[in-house]
Amino acid sequence: MERTNSNNLFEIAKNFIPGGVNSPVRAFGSVDKAPIFVEKGEGAYLYDVDGNKYIDFISSWGPLIFGHSDSEMRSAFIEALDKGVTYGLPSAIEVEMAKEISDAYPACEMVRMVNSGTEATMSAIRTARGYTGKDKFIKFEGCYHGHSDCLLVKSGSGTLTYNAPTSLGVPKDVIKDTIVCEFNSIESVQNAIDENKGEIAAVIIEPVPGNMGVVPPTQKFMEDLRELTKKEGIILIFDEVITGFRLAYGGASETFNIKPDMVCFGKIIGGGLPVGAYGGRKDIMSIVSPLGGVYQAGTLSGNPLAMYLGLKTLRRLRDNKDIYTDLERKAKRLEEGFKKNISDLGLEITVNRYRSMISMFFTGGPIDSYKDVQRADNEMYGIYFREMLKRNILLAPAQFEAMFMNTVLTDEHLDYTIKSHKEALVEINS
Ligand code: PMP
Repeated sequence: MERTNSNNLFEIAKNFIPGGVNSPVRAFGSVDKAPIFVEKGEGAYLYDVDGNKYIDFISSWGPLIFGHSDSEMRSAFIEALDKGVTYGLPSAIEVEMAKEISDAYPACEMVRMVNSGTEATMSAIRTARGYTGKDKFIKFEGCYHGHSDCLLVKSGSGTLTYNAPTSLGVPKDVIKDTIVCEFNSIESVQNAIDENKGEIAAVIIEPVPGNMGVVPPTQKFMEDLRELTKKEGIILIFDEVITGFRLAYGGASETFNIKPDMVCFGKIIGGGLPVGAYGGRKDIMSIVSPLGGVYQAGTLSGNPLAMYLGLKTLRRLRDNKDIYTDLERKAKRLEEGFKKNISDLGLEITVNRYRSMISMFFTGGPIDSYKDVQRADNEMYGIYFREMLKRNILLAPAQFEAMFMNTVLTDEHLDYTIKSHKEALVEINS
């Protein structure tokens, strides 16, 4: 496969951008080999600067639920552009957005818009701390909540790929109040609460983690977590940056039928533009400035372009809930095809799926926790990823991510992906 232009761009990029990329996962797990450089996206495809065309399962890591350069999204964007790019003042579209989120998520009585998932989780933690007057909070091993200091502890996503789940440059004092528990283990949460009686402000969780690969929780774990946090007066924060409006219109909160105290969003609610939001109970959110003493602000927060595209996305999803059935059907087709290939070839590989979220681990199952995930052979996944790339299929470059379905993927795309999956597995096991 021709890659001259990508290789040349990478050589230049390395001189001016750390690792040649603006976010580590884009480096495809390597600091030496060039990733692809994108020319354009169209429908289910990405095209690189070398003229190669890929079926895109990255979907900008989630937000492109209608695929690339969808015509309705383009019209919404142009309509919004005609009204100016940013105001730095309140506008009606922000009110509509807050109401839309609140309607979909009963937990979100009030919502504040920010500019990324990182800002959303960082601000939610600050709010929970400010509201309770307590500093400690619990997160789970392998869950990624963006790159703010206090959350970069035993994290997931690129931090796992590059073996830095706890980042350099984060002062020990800043993370001394971050308590890490085991995902899917209510005992580990109970122990942490017992050891820190009355000192914990919040528990933050990716309800269905996608950042250590897809690791679904048990319904019981989710229910126990809700009950325990409620009993102890601890604020339960769902980080729905990936799952929000993707698993269902009400996200994981809806699929598990659990009402957290706060929810964080990103990705989909901007329709592909940089955006995030956090929301929750009115009494909690009322502590946020200018109502209360928790300061949080943003020059570009509630940006009208992001609001237009985000609202367009949310309303299309709201008005056609069959989309969720369709996305899940697609993920299930892949799951079944992958599992058949793996069994036909007699390999020890595990496919995990929850609704439309799916990922694959190069190790035997079950994979229910971060400990299980650590058994997976990341190097082998990297080889598999490159074999799939050769066959014009763009997957997440590491197994600590998910595959993202969109509405423009067809059965032909999926069947070609399943066929290529078998070929790639044969190739790397020969
Ligand atoms: N939370 C979760 C669950 C995420 O998956 C991500 C990003 N992948 C973030 C937070 C951080 O979002 P952002 O990259 O927009 O800062």
